Amino acid sequence: MPVSYLCTHCGASHSEDAPVWRCECGGLLELAEPKAFAALDIDADEPGLWRYAAALPAVPGRDRLRLGETMTPLFQNQRLQAWLKLDYLFPTGSYKDRGSAVLLSKLRTQGIREAIEDSSGNAGASIAAYCAAGDIVCSIFVSARTSPAKLAQIKAYGARLLLIDGDRSAVAAAAVEASSRMFYASHNWHPAFLAGVSSLGFELWEQFGYESPDAIVVPCGQGGLVLGVARAFQALELAGSISRVPRIFAVQAAAFPAIAEAFAGQLLSPRPTQHGTTVAEGIACRLPVRGAAVLRAVRWSDGKAICVTEHEIELALAELLGCGHYVEPTSATALAGLRKLTASGDVDPVGRNVVVLTGSGLKAPAAIGEIMDRLPAHTPRTIPLRT
Ligand SMILES: [Zn+2]
Repeated sequence: MPVSYLCTHCGASHSEDAPVWRCECGGLLELAEPKAFAALDIDADEPGLWRYAAALPAVPGRDRLRLGETMTPLFQNQRLQAWLKLDYLFPTGSYKDRGSAVLLSKLRTQGIREAIEDSSGNAGASIAAYCAAGDIVCSIFVSARTSPAKLAQIKAYGARLLLIDGDRSAVAAAAVEASSRMFYASHNWHPAFLAGVSSLGFELWEQFGYESPDAIVVPCGQGGLVLGVARAFQALELAGSISRVPRIFAVQAAAFPAIAEAFAGQLLSPRPTQHGTTVAEGIACRLPVRGAAVLRAVRWSDGKAICVTEHEIELALAELLGCGHYVEPTSATALAGLRKLTASGDVDPVGRNVVVLTGSGLKAPAAIGEIMDRLPAHTPRTIPLRT
């Protein structure tokens, strides 16, 4: 029996084998309850995320789109006092490949040969790469205001760029309108993408010797990482594969605090926030599509949702760069969050606390350069020439 999707609006259930990205009623689809997952369910012949295929939408081995994914490194960095999970080492430089690999593989088995997406960031690049791997014609809707540098990677994979005059919501609306003609492979809407992200949780469990870490700290915009990690540990808990659940901490930029504000206000779902600006562009999200589910996941794990300031993000980025990790500013929000959580006593600094490094700095060299120039200790010194 395939994993099915449930409509969050009307409650209708959908087979995962039907090529749908939302319910006929227009409602958002979510994954049905996870199945129990134990160590025996791991496919040890697989090097990466397909090790957990038993917990993912079904795709036969020969149909899995591959770019050489493996388990990403996990190691304890003594200087930073954190366990770092290096998801920025994925083929496109972002953890989004976990979702794209599963989503595009599944869509391809359903005969989809042409897809659209509406992200100008890491998800857009990742969807474009797996479309290239699967010989799927790919069009990405982006705002005409997007900087050319961000579009270079998407274009390089052969995707067609469709420039929309307007902001993020206008771009999404254009993609939804076009979805009557081409399949909308939306990383925010399609539940198979989320299922792929759950491989991060399974991988951490395996790397920690089939146990939970104490805390998992992730950057949070739409909250896909929170939902993915929570889903994995729910499946593991069902099977009795772990003795306790790790606490999941969602870290937001103070300029986009929808989840953190709802958490602090004990609300069931977030309210839209004002349009701010942040260096953490990967989590610049005014109102998450799955906000209520993200809040439930954080609370289920006895975690928290918090905000960090721009300055805290920049300091954390400098710490990571200073240890040799060239990551994008969005990734630094997780370390900034861990610093805040240990200072407040929420997290034991000597615990097994994982900071997920989500995206490569190679995607944002200009932004990183500007940040480093702003931090006095890192300003390059000019050495006077001897005369
Ligand atoms: Zn529905």
